[in-house]
Amino acid sequence: MARIVMKFGGTSVGDVERIKNVAQRVKREVDAGHEVAVVVSAMSGTTNQLVGWTSAIARLHDAREYDVVVASGEQVTVGLLALALQDIGINARSWLGWQIPFRTDGIHGKARIDRIETEEMERRFAQGQVAVVAGFQGIGPDARITTLGRGGSDTSAVALAAALKADRCDIYTDVDGVYTTDPRIVSKARKIDRITYEEMLELASQGAKVLQTRSVAMAMQHGVRVQVLSSFVDVPGTLVVDEDEIVEQQVVTGIAYSPDEAKITLVGVPDRPGVAGAIFGSLADAAVNVDMIVQNVSQDGQTTDLTFTVGQADLDRASDVLNKLQADLAYAELVADPNVCKISVVGVGMRSQPGIAKTMFQTLADKSINIQVISTSEIKVSVLIGNDYTELAVRALHTAFGLDADADS
Ligand code: ASP
Ligand code: MG
Repeated sequence: MARIVMKFGGTSVGDVERIKNVAQRVKREVDAGHEVAVVVSAMSGTTNQLVGWTSAIARLHDAREYDVVVASGEQVTVGLLALALQDIGINARSWLGWQIPFRTDGIHGKARIDRIETEEMERRFAQGQVAVVAGFQGIGPDARITTLGRGGSDTSAVALAAALKADRCDIYTDVDGVYTTDPRIVSKARKIDRITYEEMLELASQGAKVLQTRSVAMAMQHGVRVQVLSSFVDVPGTLVVDEDEIVEQQVVTGIAYSPDEAKITLVGVPDRPGVAGAIFGSLADAAVNVDMIVQNVSQDGQTTDLTFTVGQADLDRASDVLNKLQADLAYAELVADPNVCKISVVGVGMRSQPGIAKTMFQTLADKSINIQVISTSEIKVSVLIGNDYTELAVRALHTAFGLDADADS
């Protein structure tokens, strides 16, 4: 007997038929004698609609009430799935975040989980009951409903698996695993059988949408065995595991792209101590996340140019902050460009194999694609390019690193 957390995303519970299909999948695990907790998202499209309503009512809304509204999607699906399970003879009960409870901090809209109290769930496992748990939501220190940020039910599932010391956390979705890149733009993308936590973390944070980044960080931290698989077809998915469980290591495992980037250049920034601190300090105070940063060595010892990227959604706020700083810092000009895309190649094999950056730059040069900004980490090389070239770049790199489905690997 194993203890399993199964998580189903919005598409998998998108209508009544699909919820019945999910119930059958859960039944299979129950019939095999396993203890099962199921975490579900809201029906596809629901959360977007709820978010839309909160902004339509008030552009700057109270985050506590935002959470009350957007958490409601999951309440519907846990109830319906519990009913579907009962209907096929499975003892099941639904749980909202506050009922378990999933204790979080008080950062409404992107709360972090502090602790999950599982005693009652464990007691009911012993009686053969299946727990149907609302993803994405918890309860804050002031006893109000919190949500974990978009895509947060992945994190709910992994956190629950860690708290329950589950043998597996199976994340069911509308794709059958993690691919070498987005199959919608590269038809030769290949499904990856096993990927390391670190690679998955980089791919998720660099734009691959299959798992919420925070869920991967949590799985890595607690050693939760995560499997990404399809809720529609019966094929093995992708296992996210420790590096030592991977037999045949590729140098580059995957390529991610993130079109939601914007580039800001401050021209003629005075070259003296404290300037970067002032700029990035003010952006941080305004909750703007900065990603890639380049500053040139100043030629004349007086001024330099500073280029960095922020999320497209933050561009207006960032420009606003920087315009206010202009009087103080006396930089010459702010140039903003939202038409950029960040492409990242990721693989733990890079640690021991030189030349990945060279291959990447050469491949882009051969397609006459200009590189605007570069950043690297131990297992990743990222470049910023014009977003018109995204597909061309991803396809060319996919081929260059031997990832195409018809290539020998
Ligand atoms: N329903 C929430 C969302 O759409 C949480 C999730 O699906 O993971 O972001
Ligand atoms: Mg998701």
